[in-house]
Amino acid sequence: MPERLAEMIDWFGHASFRFRGSKTVYVDPWKIDKESHDADIILITHEHYDHYSPDDIKKVAGDTTIVVFPESMRDKVDFINAVFLARGERQTVDGVDVEVVAAFNTNKDYHPDSKDWVGYIVNLDGIRIYHSGDTDNIDEMNSISCDVALLPVSGTYVMTAVEAIEAARRIGPRLAIPMHWGDIVGGREDAEEFARGAPCPVVIKEHST
Ligand SMILES: [Zn+2]
Repeated sequence: MPERLAEMIDWFGHASFRFRGSKTVYVDPWKIDKESHDADIILITHEHYDHYSPDDIKKVAGDTTIVVFPESMRDKVDFINAVFLARGERQTVDGVDVEVVAAFNTNKDYHPDSKDWVGYIVNLDGIRIYHSGDTDNIDEMNSISCDVALLPVSGTYVMTAVEAIEAARRIGPRLAIPMHWGDIVGGREDAEEFARGAPCPVVIKEHST
């Protein structure tokens, strides 16, 4: 059953994902090869180039695609169909329930809490998928309820595999997928370390194209 959850999720490397259901939802599209223009909704977690890539957004967006940004990015974004949501907000976007949650570092300065950058919980056809954004293992995760958790494992800018195991314990998903490895920082060994220690089933995704 967890494997079936993984089948609706495509990974393009790093934190770049597509969820396929009655709607098609991308999070932080980056290093996209194909001009698919198949996105109904695109969610952006924060402004770093490997997460907010206007060129990649253009490859997956169509004329009516809605792009959701953290409220704190309002002044940096110029998209016609942009929606800005703050931490704690929950909104139905094109028929899909989107919850905005905190994402930040606790022991490094790359993603300060004060930036109000985010993660998302997307409810797609009754399946709740949590994309944590670039974050450490934060207390706010105690109140997250989801079926699938996408968690960074590389360390350096985000939590390590060991910290991600603790995060998975807080969250208690039915399935976890390690992200933020294999590009810029982190390798398969980090994903595998997470998979060995996680208190839930883990699927290590292969790159989609
Ligand atoms: Zn970042």
